[in-house]
Amino acid sequence: MSNLPSEPEFEQAYNELASSLENSTLFEKFPEYRTALKVASIPERVLQFRIVWEDDAGQLQVNRGYRVQFNSALGPYKGGLRLHPSVNLSILKFLGFEQIFKNALTGLMMGGGKGGADFDPKGKSDSEIRRFCVAFMKELARYIGANTDVPAGDIGVGGREIGYLFGAYRKERNKFEGVLTGKGLDWGGSLIRPEATGYGLVYYVGHMLEYAGAGSWAGKRVAISGSGNVAQYAALKCIELGATVVSLSDSQGALVGEVKASDIEAIGQLKIDRKSLTAYEASENLKYIPGARPWLHAGQVDVALPSATQNEVSKEEAEGLIAAGCKFVAEGSNMGCTQGAIDVFEAVRKEKKGEAVWYAPGKAANCGGVAVSGLEMGQNSQRLAWTREEVDEKLKVIMKNAFDLGLSTAKEYVKAAEGELPSLVDGSNIAGFVKVARAM
Ligand code: GLU
Repeated sequence: MSNLPSEPEFEQAYNELASSLENSTLFEKFPEYRTALKVASIPERVLQFRIVWEDDAGQLQVNRGYRVQFNSALGPYKGGLRLHPSVNLSILKFLGFEQIFKNALTGLMMGGGKGGADFDPKGKSDSEIRRFCVAFMKELARYIGANTDVPAGDIGVGGREIGYLFGAYRKERNKFEGVLTGKGLDWGGSLIRPEATGYGLVYYVGHMLEYAGAGSWAGKRVAISGSGNVAQYAALKCIELGATVVSLSDSQGALVGEVKASDIEAIGQLKIDRKSLTAYEASENLKYIPGARPWLHAGQVDVALPSATQNEVSKEEAEGLIAAGCKFVAEGSNMGCTQGAIDVFEAVRKEKKGEAVWYAPGKAANCGGVAVSGLEMGQNSQRLAWTREEVDEKLKVIMKNAFDLGLSTAKEYVKAAEGELPSLVDGSNIAGFVKVARAM
């Protein structure tokens, strides 16, 4: 799997996938897929480079940059760039590995990759971010291309950063090609791309609710973590569909109470200004809890949507959510739940059957973001721009297919008791893997 001393995040992501395959009848039916797993666990290529840039005081700063080109069996490497001080090779390998199978679940032709740098955008000026992005792309440009590797945003990389990166790529390579997704509408971006991960997550959970006989979104109490792009649009879509959003959060603390659309708009601006939620003058419907994650503070909850970062739900928080009435958990973030939390949710799903809690992994539930990136690539290739309605409709179909595929694959390969809800984690892992294994 790995020959490095310790890659905890990557090992966690690998073990989650491998145990889904082991728990199923897949290897009995197709013994050769064991070899495919071994092959798929090693990135095709890992690029590491130095980024030297100048801060506003004229001092030189240096960061580590990476691009993990994990698997190209299904198409050009595709996946975001993360700018965060925690970024290291283990985190990017876990994200790249997840991305392979997530991209497969979208049904579009995209391989898997991920990149980023240990650069911290917090507290930096716009000019510093721009100089960093230009220096980063100077190195990255030689490794990417419309049919080779198409990066996008992730934590710390939004529309503004994609703009700086795209401009730097054009200069560096003398090419106008859709080599990054998440571009602005005036220069090749797609409508609905900013909304896509959050909207797609809500569409996906809509199918879970319906299948489990829990009705529609209307009237549900939804705990959401995070306050970035994924959390904001998931929250807005929940509110639009008649649900009540009872929390948001960031790395400094949680806001609990009733989150209104106007709160989300104000928080969106705060995030563009790279400020933390502590700077938000909460309306009287909201309470700020410093240093906390929302799960144990949001009161009664029907649905939980971790949408901040990896490992943001512990085993204890999973138990707390179940005690608070939570019946559905779906990850807007990548690997939002710890393995301990997933084990709790999956054990309850098996024991309680119809009354269960039902967990959906990020690689299925949040695939809407990269799916609309795929649609952006499609529009760029055709030199066309689709309407909002066209993109939203395609996103809905992709989310429905990802849900149905996870469900039918679990039914086909995983033994279950009568009345048990199929495991979406096993089903999605197997479905994504089989597609990639066949293509390899
Ligand atoms: N960073 C997003 C993800 O985790 C989007 C990647 C993309 O659009 O390429 O799926």
